[in-house]
Amino acid sequence: MGELFGTNGVRGIVNEDMDVDLALDLGRAIGTWLGEGRVGIGTDSRLSNQMLKYAVASGLMSTGVSVVDLGMAPTPAIQYYVRENTDMGVVITASHNPPEFNGIKVVAGDGTELLKDVEGEIEDIYFSKKFEYVPWDRVGSMIEDDPLDKYHEAVLKSVDEHTVKDAGLKIVVDCANGVAGLSTPYLLRNLGCQVITLNAQLDGTFPGHESEPTEENLVDLKSMVTSVGADLGIAHDGDSDRAIFFDEMGNFLHGDKTLTLMAKKMVVENDGGIVVTPVSSSSSVEDVVKDNGGELIYTAVGSPIVARKMMEIDAVFGGEENGGLIFADHQYCRDAPMTAVKVVELIAREGRALSELIAELPDYALDKRGLYCPDELKEELIADLKEIFSEQEYDDTDGLKIYYPEGWVLIRASGTEPKYRVYSQSKDKITAEKLGEEHLKVVQKAVNDLS
Ligand code: MG
Repeated sequence: MGELFGTNGVRGIVNEDMDVDLALDLGRAIGTWLGEGRVGIGTDSRLSNQMLKYAVASGLMSTGVSVVDLGMAPTPAIQYYVRENTDMGVVITASHNPPEFNGIKVVAGDGTELLKDVEGEIEDIYFSKKFEYVPWDRVGSMIEDDPLDKYHEAVLKSVDEHTVKDAGLKIVVDCANGVAGLSTPYLLRNLGCQVITLNAQLDGTFPGHESEPTEENLVDLKSMVTSVGADLGIAHDGDSDRAIFFDEMGNFLHGDKTLTLMAKKMVVENDGGIVVTPVSSSSSVEDVVKDNGGELIYTAVGSPIVARKMMEIDAVFGGEENGGLIFADHQYCRDAPMTAVKVVELIAREGRALSELIAELPDYALDKRGLYCPDELKEELIADLKEIFSEQEYDDTDGLKIYYPEGWVLIRASGTEPKYRVYSQSKDKITAEKLGEEHLKVVQKAVNDLS
């Protein structure tokens, strides 16, 4: 049995592995799993969106499910709509992948991404083709609705409008030609900010730059922030579930900085509370949460896992270092426009520069390495590594996280590639690199011994 869903839904190159047949059968499989009900379906700005959307919708309707076409919208806006209005959701998006890719992501009725076991059940139906079609008089229908107004209302309701309006901030927003262009500039202008946009026109060829918000892809944003004297710069990925920031001096802020900054804000504002983040996150998150009377809970890597854990234990905030932040009182999924607005709210409230707020946070150096490991050896390898490091203090929530006085090392299998990753963290770069190098050698030897 093949595996259809990767870390973030089904992805592939359009009309090669991601084609109409796959989309149609996946629609049939989702509809068969659901039985009956309504599914909201929306897309990002990619050229193949309509082709895939209508195929999924046809499959769904053949099993008796009704479809609400939500058009183009940020993924979090679609998730918000699903939570409020439908039994499930489908997002046609390949997030930050190159333009020739597209993907299909399934959202549970509560608006969060599906967990692995439900994906597995849908996969089983997909591969066995045991679709349950309904008679002619029960096939589903399709209507249109706009998810944006209600979503924007919810985001605006969760911020301190007066404080942000009084601050009169100047902000450059790079929408990466994606669906962020429908929300973030609008929200910030509504909050009285002066907004300058880059790549705000929706265009699935991504003429501005690739849709992954890396520092290399954001050179225009960086220079625009300093040339117009903006208070900050904001960038989103293609489907707008992740937000990345530049400070007023044009410094690119790694996702762990914003994650730490927001974790601190949420714990301070809630007088404590629980924050959830994967074991791969910087210790700076744990430091600020504990220093401000909160509690930190670690999970395995993956935003659906973080979101589910947050619901389970009633956490106030959670997120990953890739810029995907989850605000519990808003909704249990990564939400980039919400993150943008929350960072802006913090700057307005503090009345200080973003660089200053960042400088106050604990600073750690993180080193990341990887090595080839065939998928079939992955499980055995982790068992061997546990044996090798049995004398050390470790945590096996996800892979193996080994604690040392000078820092930690996380060794974990990649969810998408035949690879193992080695992350190491310490107070200084040289120690982090040394830890990474040493452990990579140990892992390499263990892989060689197995093969
Ligand atoms: Mg994304």
